[in-house]
Amino acid sequence: MKPPQCRYKKEQTEMELGKWEEGDLGFEDHGIFTIFGGFDYLDAGHQGMGWCIDLEFIEKFIRVFDTYTFNKCNNKLAWVEHTHGRIYRIISIDGKHEFDIQKWSDSFKDKIYHCKNCDAVLGEDEGTICKKCIDDAFEKVYKKKEVK
Ligand SMILES: [Zn+2]
Repeated sequence: MKPPQCRYKKEQTEMELGKWEEGDLGFEDHGIFTIFGGFDYLDAGHQGMGWCIDLEFIEKFIRVFDTYTFNKCNNKLAWVEHTHGRIYRIISIDGKHEFDIQKWSDSFKDKIYHCKNCDAVLGEDEGTICKKCIDDAFEKVYKKKEVK
């Protein structure tokens, strides 16, 4: 098997075969939806994952392992472009499906750090809608009730 080329050469990534292990989905301490698990590299070493993700991530992730459910990804191999501290890209063994995690991560960050309603930058304790929009929405509902 010839490994695919690295894309993030500037970051000095390397391409290795990794076995996905102990994959799970759930909520971490702060209630953020997270993927858990890790890659066991055939050469040596293990790289854990505990990232805040969305549905798009799961869809693309499953496709790389050429299967239908998240559970079935366990113990399957994929090419992993990574550095010691970060996973940039995963690619199916046959090279047909790739998931550029770095690219996904960049757009996901934009999505979560801005209010979905007014696009204001969110504070740390705000979810996906800023406090002002929530207050405005409550006020509208409250006013409607008062009119009646
Ligand atoms: Zn807002």
